[in-house]
Order: sequence, then structure tokens, then C-alpha cells
Amino acid sequence: VTTLAIIEDDDRIRETLGRALRARGYTLLMASTGLAGLAVAVEQQPDAVVLDLGLPDIDGLELLRMIRAVSRVPLIAATARDDEADIVRTLDAGADDYVVKPYSAEQLEARVRAVLRRTSPSTADRMIVGALVIDPSARTAALDGDELELAPKEFDLLAYLAARVGQVVPRRELLAEVWADPYGTSDKSIDVHLSWLRTKLGETARDPRYLRVVRGVGVKLVAPS
Ligand code: CA
Repeated sequence: VTTLAIIEDDDRIRETLGRALRARGYTLLMASTGLAGLAVAVEQQPDAVVLDLGLPDIDGLELLRMIRAVSRVPLIAATARDDEADIVRTLDAGADDYVVKPYSAEQLEARVRAVLRRTSPSTADRMIVGALVIDPSARTAALDGDELELAPKEFDLLAYLAARVGQVVPRRELLAEVWADPYGTSDKSIDVHLSWLRTKLGETARDPRYLRVVRGVGVKLVAPS
């Protein structure tokens, strides 16, 4: 099931879209203000966000930047004007795609599908890091051909790092994307899960192979040399 967050202050558009998208099997999270939308987009982990740029309480581009500061959730901006400069600013601010109002539910859904194809780890191919093979669609990981028994969070953490192999992923990003807790209240749980994951990967903090902690910055997954 795909969950979409719709941030839109126009009641009629929300109702029309809601009806059309629910009929197509989507689960919807609705917000009619920017602040409510920010909370929904960040805390409820929708698969994608549709953001109306003309909101009553916050400038839409500002909200887009706020969401992007803590989340990489696929985001489609809905703009009122077919204005080149507006669209460029929107994409530069981190939108994955845009629709120009008035748009149909069909067009929006096609764009959602396209954005999810490009960004969703659930549709990504297997990832191979050294002797580690991670299959996001099957939610399995194997090391040297042996399947690892990972708890859901451990798998999420491993898959998130594997999709960004070699890059140091900041703790704040892990908290926002893997733990859905961008405010950093459970920083310790990253350490705990890393330590469990390490054990399952047959390594220790003293003698790391795949998981490298960069103190004060974040964590990266690497192929052992
Ligand atoms: Ca509006």
C-alpha cells in the first residue's frame, strides 16, 4: 500500500483528489496547512508527498526546504502557475517533480508512480557491497551467501546505508529517515542498532569491516578492503 501525504489548503481539491486516489488504492494523509503538513510529512513517513506551494500559513518553497532539511521523502510540488522561473526554483529547492494546477488525479498518480520508481528502495535492485547482498524488495540480506537474521530496524538501517554506500550518513538523517524521529531524542538507539548489526556482520567497533562510524558526524557502509 502506498501512503501519500497531500498538503493542500483548497478543500475542494483535497476532496476530489482524496476520492480519486482512495479509489485507486492509496492511503492518504491530509493536511490543510503548512505546519500540519510538515508534521505529517516528517513524522508519519508517507511514501510520497504532494505539496501545494500556495499555502495560507507558510510559503510553499520555505516549507519544501524545511522538509528537505530532515527528509528525502519523494515530493511532488503543485504550483498554480506554469512559470519557468517558479518551476526551476521549486526543483532547485528539492522537489522531485511538479504538477501545474489544475491537474487531474490521473496525471498526479502517474507522476507519483514515476517518482516512486526512481526513488523507492522497495523497487530498487539488489545492492552488493563486498560480500554483502541486500535485497530491498524481499527485505533480505546475506553475507557470504548466508542469509542474515535481521530485525526490521536493523534491516532498514543496513538498506539505508547500502543505498548510500561510501557516503557518511549523518545521524540526524538516520533519525529522520530510519527512525522517523528527526529531533534526535533517541540518538542512543542508533548506537544500539549499529552494535547489533555489527555482531551479525561478524565485526566489532574495534575491528570494523563494513560499518564505519565517523565520530561526531555519522556512519557509512563500505566494502572491506
Ligand atoms: Ca493553495
